[in-house]
Amino acid sequence: MLRVIAIDGPAGSGKTTTAQSVARAVGFAHLDSGALYRAVTLAGLDAGTLDSVEATLAAAEAAHVALIPGDDPFRPQASGVDVSEAVRSARVTAQVARVAAWPAVREWVNRQLRATATAHPAGVVVDGRDIGTVVFPDAPLKVFLTADPEVRARRRLAQEGRAADAGNLGQTAAQLGSRDAADARRAVAPLKPAPDAVVLDGTALGFNEQVTEILRLVRKMFPQLDIGPTQD
Ligand code: C5P
Repeated sequence: MLRVIAIDGPAGSGKTTTAQSVARAVGFAHLDSGALYRAVTLAGLDAGTLDSVEATLAAAEAAHVALIPGDDPFRPQASGVDVSEAVRSARVTAQVARVAAWPAVREWVNRQLRATATAHPAGVVVDGRDIGTVVFPDAPLKVFLTADPEVRARRRLAQEGRAADAGNLGQTAAQLGSRDAADARRAVAPLKPAPDAVVLDGTALGFNEQVTEILRLVRKMFPQLDIGPTQD
């Protein structure tokens, strides 16, 4: 059986931190597909090629953009350097949805994700927007994580170490909303739950409850895994 757990959802839904915790508990590796789209965008920005898909992919190839196994999560790398922080910069965030709408970029990213996942001896938790619908439609467990826009904006601000106030809350919610709209509107691999995904609304759930709920599903779908007792 394919040992892949797909976690999809909109920006700020907590997919990446949740996927990381689930992966740790299960003994799988964690692949953050958004980090790969961001690293391709960063390579394109640095090379000044973002007006051309071919030139941007060439820049990504030249920089050997990839997710590289590290101590724990796979980390995005470009030109031999860990770009985990650089890919989260505002200039990358502002451009990534445009780059991710290019079909050739999506194929390039998906090839990497599939090769890395199938080569992994234990299994992988992959988070993104189209993991359950396009990249791994045969994943035994697909979760679609949602949360109210305000909750997502609060989480995003907390993640960035900023205190929430009426001004930045509205602004952050608007930024997340416009990225979601672009991701949901695009012709190829739009943001949406797979028909067989478990939709989990994290609005009222704390982080631990969210992880616990997914681990409950993992136990059901992968009874052969020795996950041990969790926080339920
Ligand atoms: O998850 P994160 O916010 O880092 O993703 C950045 C962007 O990458 C998303 O807004 C989306 O445009 C793109 N993305 C995607 N498909 C994925 C993962 C990310 O289109 N599987």
